[in-house]
Amino acid sequence: MILEGSIRLPFSYAAGVVGSRFLVALRDEQVILGGRCSDCGTVSCPARSMCPECGTHVDDLVEVGPGGTVEAWTEMPGKPAFGLIRLDGADTALIHHLLSGEGKWQPNTRVTARFAPERVGDINDIEGFEEERGAS
Ligand SMILES: [Zn+2]
Repeated sequence: MILEGSIRLPFSYAAGVVGSRFLVALRDEQVILGGRCSDCGTVSCPARSMCPECGTHVDDLVEVGPGGTVEAWTEMPGKPAFGLIRLDGADTALIHHLLSGEGKWQPNTRVTARFAPERVGDINDIEGFEEERGAS
């Protein structure tokens, strides 16, 4: 027996100081920031207030990307593809839309961020990632 339904789940998320700086840099400068841990040196992206490796509070932000490599992806015909993108300078991968054609992704494909023409301070200020020109 299967019951079908849907749940609407509105929420608010406090981005905090580090997350807010990340979002403001996307919106105002089209720059992607990672958080560098002062203890272990891990650079996480998106920048977060706690190091994902050791739990140390992070307050040092560094520019990463906008280029990077696709580590993994998922796609279904007719649906947007999603990828885990490790941006240049980052030690963690960011999940986001892959904008180029279906069925062509390979491990380590070089991609670069495409920013939205109008940005609001949201992760979708990056429209997604597209294959770098000149890459094959
Ligand atoms: Zn750390």
